[in-house]
Amino acid sequence: MLSEEVIRELKEIVGDEYVVTDPADLYVYGFDASIHHRDADVVVRPHSTEEVSRIVKLANRRKIPIMPRGAGTALAGQAVPVDGGIVIDLQEMNKVLDIRVEDLYVIVQPGVVYAELNKILKPYGFFFPPTPGSASVCTIGGMVAVNASGMRALKYGATRDYVMALEVVLPTGEVVRMGTRTIKNSSGYQLEKLFVGSEGTLGVITEVTLRLQPLPPERAVTIAAFRTLKEAGQGVSNIIADGYLPSALEIMDDVCIDAVNKHKNAGLPQCAGILIVEVEGHKEVVEEDLKRVARILKESGAFQVEYTRDPEEMARIWSARSAVLPALSSYGETFVSVSLADDMSVPISKVADAVVAYREIAKKYGFVIGIYGHAGDGNLHTKFLLDPKSEEHWKMAEKAVGEIYDVTLKLGGTVSGEHGIAITKAPYMKKERASVLPLMKKIKEVIDPNNIMNPRKMAYWENGIIQYLRYPVGRK
Ligand SMILES: Cc1cc2nc3c(=O)[nH]c(=O)nc-3n(C[C@H](O)[C@H](O)[C@H](O)COP(=O)(O)OP(=O)(O)OC[C@H]3O[C@@H](n4cnc5c(N)ncnc54)[C@H](O)[C@@H]3O)c2cc1C
Repeated sequence: MLSEEVIRELKEIVGDEYVVTDPADLYVYGFDASIHHRDADVVVRPHSTEEVSRIVKLANRRKIPIMPRGAGTALAGQAVPVDGGIVIDLQEMNKVLDIRVEDLYVIVQPGVVYAELNKILKPYGFFFPPTPGSASVCTIGGMVAVNASGMRALKYGATRDYVMALEVVLPTGEVVRMGTRTIKNSSGYQLEKLFVGSEGTLGVITEVTLRLQPLPPERAVTIAAFRTLKEAGQGVSNIIADGYLPSALEIMDDVCIDAVNKHKNAGLPQCAGILIVEVEGHKEVVEEDLKRVARILKESGAFQVEYTRDPEEMARIWSARSAVLPALSSYGETFVSVSLADDMSVPISKVADAVVAYREIAKKYGFVIGIYGHAGDGNLHTKFLLDPKSEEHWKMAEKAVGEIYDVTLKLGGTVSGEHGIAITKAPYMKKERASVLPLMKKIKEVIDPNNIMNPRKMAYWENGIIQYLRYPVGRK
């Protein structure tokens, strides 16, 4: 609990209206989209960099933990304030400050929502490509802090590849600007990239300069149905090995297809696995690419290949794909879908091996899992369906998760392709990055000597992952 004096000082900085102390609100601010929860102690909603700087100075002076927060959609516990302190909600800082399409950049405040930004950019004929599944709500600050990406990363890269410059409030309260507004930059350490993926542990991002891409003239989408998941996985590497780079290449297994068909009446082909492939370019290029993709998919074993160029039909397919997470959540009556090993990335040629191995591990422990993801870039999601009140289920799931990560690392992969580390993946990231952990800790100690920024996350998480659960474990 924070003292009355601290609350009063916070009110002086941002105004009474923008300091949240109501217990019901603090309970809600204790969630993100992960399995974890802890009530917030206080939430402040600043409107300017100067206000953020004053809040951080206050916290640093009194050694109070700080947790920056965007929309709270993080999947590994990044936005859960496990050590309490001050949550800084950046959603009031939501202005697009400058659009310079002739210079290929846009400058935004951190609270701008991804989909809103692209709506604003569309009339200019440009876009910011990463396309996370949470596009309609997640903020640019949150995307930078987690290095978010999504279905277009294969062709266009992740958020990291678009961050040209940042304004950051350091843990001392000092405001620094890093990076440039030029396409090229070899001017010293690229510190702006260090803050990408820092998950609120190094400072508060208060302004972002993002590179833009021109919108393609046309898009089309192909759906291919397979009799085995391995064949679908093989189809992914066959497309890439043919020298073709689609703008999106997604995989969904039978569990995800069934869940989405029931939840949304999506009408996806019910089979062992589907691939959804997006091609883009000028009309003639799209036509040629559709033929090429269909040929590769059929050679890979697809028993049905269909395509559409109708924007409404494409939107229907992408909305079915985006519905996987909510559809799995309501799939079973007692079981819910939880994010545990939800974000592995393997080299593209290992996708088929990975999906088969994940399914085997789940089976060994008696779990149903849904497997889906951005298979074109090797990024796979698994969602466990379990009884969240059962301690036994959590214990078994933790064992299965360890095995999934071991297989992933053996295949040359990483424990997180896009959702980040925080709590749920910390022990496994520490295993993967053992040789650089001391350096990561030194960087943190230099930038944040009082350890106030989102403490005890990532390299500093010392426990197992079944901690601070949002579920009433053990209760009937
Ligand atoms: C349905 C669903 C689908 C998703 N799909 C994808 C996907 O396809 N790809 C993907 O990458 N992720 C996905 N995610 C995860 C999540 O949406 C992303 O990580 C997103 O970038 C988080 O943004 P946010 O605004 O919600 O940040 P939050 O959850 O509020 O915060 C995330 C982290 O960023 C830090 N942070 C936030 N703002 C700032 C700031 N201004 N300065 C410093 N640190 C800050 C926080 O401290 C925290 O550590 C999905 C989540 C859901 C619920």
